[in-house]
Amino acid sequence: SMASPALLMRVVASAYSVAEKAATIVRNVMSAGDLGIVEKAGPNDLQTKADRLVQMSICASLARKFPKVTIIGEEELPTDDVTEDLIEDGHCEEILKKPCPAQYTGIKEEELVIWVDPLDGTKEYTEGLLDHVTVLIGIAYGGKAIAGVINQPYYNYEAGANAVLGRTIWGVLGLGAFGFQLTEAPAGKHIVVTTRSHSSALVNECITALNPDHVIRVGGAGNKIIQLIEGKASAYVFASPGCKKWDTCAPEAILHAVGGKITDIRGNSFQYNKEVKHMNSAGVLATLRNYDYYAGRIPNTVKESLVP
Ligand code: AMP
Ligand code: MG
Ligand code: MG
Repeated sequence: SMASPALLMRVVASAYSVAEKAATIVRNVMSAGDLGIVEKAGPNDLQTKADRLVQMSICASLARKFPKVTIIGEEELPTDDVTEDLIEDGHCEEILKKPCPAQYTGIKEEELVIWVDPLDGTKEYTEGLLDHVTVLIGIAYGGKAIAGVINQPYYNYEAGANAVLGRTIWGVLGLGAFGFQLTEAPAGKHIVVTTRSHSSALVNECITALNPDHVIRVGGAGNKIIQLIEGKASAYVFASPGCKKWDTCAPEAILHAVGGKITDIRGNSFQYNKEVKHMNSAGVLATLRNYDYYAGRIPNTVKESLVP
């Protein structure tokens, strides 16, 4: 008989189902109408009932199946008193049928770190910009983002009542990424995607220096990586602290799985071991193609303003 699937593939297959349950919670909280908004650091750093319930759902569900894995979620909440209705026990069969890349077949539970952003784009969620929202589950090994799941709960929400709402994108380094159509951005055009709700003088100075043909301002780190892999934008540029490891882990794994590149503004790669600082203090620069074009045009003054 066939050997049981490698741990990494079982974790990704479970994370897929856990992210789908999360998406249902995100939609249910919105349709119930009481978002329960709490300010964390300030008015641009919000938490809703959906962030809280999804954090508990994802972390408790994965911890129950994979008790030795380190799970780091954005929201500071207890996971011991999570109610059974928040637990997802399922997994995606299709993922289990895929081969685990050889370099990852020997991974043990205690060697994995899972970075969870239960709801990325909370500010936009509270403002009704629903397709900006994603649920992010990133999986790291040896300090590197090696696999990830991005669920977009409101994908297709403007396409009418007959359209299937929501989708799940997933990927593993060495295997590829699935659940979307990989598309190149228009050739010869420089389209920058950046923050909508966390701009600053430095953020704008950096974009101006790149002299883009077009700038797209949307919420969410997950959403911006989707813009890159679907050819809507050619570079994600964010010259500011604010983005955290749970924002970049799943997006990084998926982007790297299709040959893209993400670093901080100074060109340093991100580390995802459990001891690492959460803040990506030196910002984000990501592309599907032509990374060097953008990296080579970031002004030194901008780089020097951001300390990793
Ligand atoms: P944005 O592109 O503004 O949606 O930011 C991407 C991710 O980084 C989201 O999870 C934001 O909440 C987070 N983020 C970026 N800048 C800040 C900030 N100044 N304060 C808090 N969170 C931030
Ligand atoms: Mg986030
Ligand atoms: Mg969040």
